[in-house]
Amino acid sequence: NEGLGSWPARRARKTPHRTALIHQADAFTYAELHERTTRLAHALRAAGVRRGDRVAYLGRNHPAFLETLFAAGLLGAVFVPLNTRLTAPEIAYQLTDSGSRALLHSPELAAVAAVAAESGGARTVVEVGGAAYEELLAGAATAPIDEPVSPDDLCIIMYTSGTTGRPKGAMLTHGNIVWNAVNVLVDHDLVADETALVSAPLFHTGALNMLTLPVLLKGGACVLVESFDPGGTLDLIERHGVTFMFGVPTMFDQVARHPRWATADLSSLRLLNCGGAPVPTPLIATYQERGLTFLQGYGMTEASPGALFLDAEHAVAKAGSAGVPHFFTDVRVVRPDLAQAEVGETGEVLVRGPHVMSGYWGLPAESEAAFVDGWFRTGDAARVDADGYVTIVDRFKDMIISGGENVYPAEVEDALLAHPDVAECAVIGVPDARWGETARAIVVARAGSTPDPASILASLDGRLARYKIPKSLVLAEALPRTATGKLLKHELRSRYGTGQ
Ligand code: AMP
Ligand code: MG
Repeated sequence: NEGLGSWPARRARKTPHRTALIHQADAFTYAELHERTTRLAHALRAAGVRRGDRVAYLGRNHPAFLETLFAAGLLGAVFVPLNTRLTAPEIAYQLTDSGSRALLHSPELAAVAAVAAESGGARTVVEVGGAAYEELLAGAATAPIDEPVSPDDLCIIMYTSGTTGRPKGAMLTHGNIVWNAVNVLVDHDLVADETALVSAPLFHTGALNMLTLPVLLKGGACVLVESFDPGGTLDLIERHGVTFMFGVPTMFDQVARHPRWATADLSSLRLLNCGGAPVPTPLIATYQERGLTFLQGYGMTEASPGALFLDAEHAVAKAGSAGVPHFFTDVRVVRPDLAQAEVGETGEVLVRGPHVMSGYWGLPAESEAAFVDGWFRTGDAARVDADGYVTIVDRFKDMIISGGENVYPAEVEDALLAHPDVAECAVIGVPDARWGETARAIVVARAGSTPDPASILASLDGRLARYKIPKSLVLAEALPRTATGKLLKHELRSRYGTGQ
């Protein structure tokens, strides 16, 4: 097995007694992680999971998340992490689309998992993390599993939304994940006994691939936190002597606003990686005052995810930039005709490397459109300086990032149009001090209706995850459009993008 599934066994061979995972009062060594993963693989196999089958996971950060990922990898099955913030219909869509035959879920999500599995067609539903899960493991075999898995085999299908329609499953191979981890190991000064604080959700690529998997590859410990809390973060840093953290800007901002920020002992921290959204300059300064320098990253689910990286050495001199490509990554900034943009000229970011996905699950046309001459089209706008440092300046694609979660206007607009009073609508991002951006709906009411903004927004409850639901709704007479009927989002943003 040349894939991720073999990592616990390989680690157990080298460092059996070192701590791999910490969760609340539990801690598992690499030997224990290896044994638990092998047992879970046997249990999944007994439930009918075979090579190539998709195994979905719905739960917050917990050892069972990684046990399922590695167990699926041992069987040559494909791991499908699901966002716990999604509603049952949104989850059901991803189960159906991925054709997942099994759904593993944590106890507190049992109700939503049952509904989603029923309509999403998952035949096997397993509750993980409680007493029943421990019994399942205790009753399973421990014989080594020797299923051939190669780096080109599919490892993870990770859902990410598109500018049109439904979420798409980015297909990441074992090789993609390993190459990203190699990039992290080359570009960060990771030592063998790192202690990582995993408080960003593992179902997103950042916490999984920029933090947890590289640390486990190197033999360090990961402290798994079910839900992020700024004060709790400071407590855990002190209690475990955390050396390495990853988060989106909103998380680091909340930690710095906590009353204990000024007095907490942060002396163990060596590596702080902030990514997934633009890092505000005042946030960089706040951390600098405590002697902490961010490593900054730019990437995307499709690239497993690291593409650009700004190291601590250049964090001040190149503040505002997302850095240079990772060691095994190539990045180009191009004009619409794909010619190289000049120094200082804004163009689209293209990414190429052995960590970039093989395509979107079941979507050959979209997969082809995502690439040009083998380069992944990011839809992000950037410029390059004379030293090759890339600054992300804007997005060509229609996307809002709210507290690290991506919101795709098309999906929200579809849901709004289902309301009887909504004739036309558009969703834009507006700046927000806490979340970076939040969504705002601009609605043209159906003639003769008496639209109520609050009840239109309330109609989205249960249909869309909370973070996607607009925080405000503005009624308009008409939406600005081109002669051909295309929505002028820029015009909308300048007209409705500020104030209440
Ligand atoms: P995701 O697939 O959820 O990781 O989202 C990827 C997108 O997040 C990118 O295409 C960018 O639009 C945005 N993004 C990620 N990192 C950064 C960053 N450092 N600065 C600006 N935008 C970013
Ligand atoms: Mg993101």
